[in-house]
Amino acid sequence: MYDFVVVGVGPPGARFARRAAEEGYDVLALEQGTIGEPLACSGHVSTDVWEFTGEGAREDLFQNEIYGARFHVGGPGSDAYPFYKDTVASNVIDRVGLDRHLAELAREAGADVRENHTVTGVTERRDRVAIVASGPDGRLEVEAKMVAGCDGPRSRVRDELGLPQPGEFLHGVLAFSEEDDHQDFVDVHLTPPTFFAWRIPRGEAGVEYGLAAPPGVQVTKHFEELIDGYEIDVSHRCSGAIPVGPPDRVTSRRAFLIGDAAAQTKPFTGGGILYSMTSADHAAREIDPDRPTTLAAYERAWRDDLAREQRLGHWIRRAYSLPEPVQRLGLGALSGEIGVHMDRPTSLVSPTHLKAMLSRLRG
Ligand SMILES: Cc1cc2nc3c(=O)[nH]c(=O)nc-3n(C[C@H](O)[C@H](O)[C@H](O)COP(=O)(O)OP(=O)(O)OC[C@H]3O[C@@H](n4cnc5c(N)ncnc54)[C@H](O)[C@@H]3O)c2cc1C
Repeated sequence: MYDFVVVGVGPPGARFARRAAEEGYDVLALEQGTIGEPLACSGHVSTDVWEFTGEGAREDLFQNEIYGARFHVGGPGSDAYPFYKDTVASNVIDRVGLDRHLAELAREAGADVRENHTVTGVTERRDRVAIVASGPDGRLEVEAKMVAGCDGPRSRVRDELGLPQPGEFLHGVLAFSEEDDHQDFVDVHLTPPTFFAWRIPRGEAGVEYGLAAPPGVQVTKHFEELIDGYEIDVSHRCSGAIPVGPPDRVTSRRAFLIGDAAAQTKPFTGGGILYSMTSADHAAREIDPDRPTTLAAYERAWRDDLAREQRLGHWIRRAYSLPEPVQRLGLGALSGEIGVHMDRPTSLVSPTHLKAMLSRLRG
């Protein structure tokens, strides 16, 4: 019997598998397809990402560095309100490569990582969990002391165990042009209702155009308007769901969710790479597969760390729905140099941000 079976090998699955294997646990990680594919993510992350990677990762995965964002109330060509830092705020990275790199680290730590294995059944028993998967050699049945559901926004593990759903699912789309753009600003358009569209320069890897919005919004129509506004041809269109608002419970008797399965995302951007890996570390630190009561410690640990950030993130997102004149007024008043960490909205009251605000008032 395995100590842990991990379902899904995205960033949190790979990170948890690696950390648990390093602790000496017997870990099997099952990924339904090829690791990293299909792509449905911008790979725009804070520089903290490099704390989770191994040797040589930056050279292989880095595409561009970003100092700030130009906000627009309207589409391309409309007035821009820049927010920026005096140091690098974020990096644009190769997301497919990131997943492969993290999975390789998990393998090196001793986890048995298998691709092309789709988990179809999860049954909790008093002292174990039974997992059924279909793989290249047919049906696979394994048992574990615990199962980690790292299987993304439409989590099978969550559904099989009757765990509650995230508050909401946004629909995200993106596509790429062949422009060679090393600019250090992203553009954010507050045009789709309650969320936004974006343009991300990716250095030699082209420029990414994307958009996310809740169900009911005509995402394709808004996306076409964005592309038309920029007068650019794009290809490699892809899309994915973004869960927002974690459910009250992400653990059961012998199972726990990490990452998008648990809606461990930023409500004001939909980003989840850093929160999911941070939560994977909490899980690896707190959960002992022989002591199911430790699952409560994981629930507490990740919420103690991220719940305040997510609450504040929800408030920031509300600003996307304000009337346009109010948005213009607010953006005009607040734009300029900031000291906010993109994963930590509570840093709005940090000394770095307050210093940046003060120097702006003086200047
Ligand atoms: C359009 C878009 C843009 C985004 N941009 C950013 C960004 O710039 N920055 C950022 O931080 N976040 C971004 N995100 C969010 C980010 O992609 C997720 O938060 C992150 O991928 C969460 O990782 P995850 O492993 O939980 O989920 P996923 O990345 O979805 O991985 C889940 C894995 O589980 C596998 N799986 C699913 N079901 C099964 C099964 N039954 N059996 C076995 N394996 C299974 C899947 O194949 C997949 O590999 C974006 C999301 C979208 C949709």
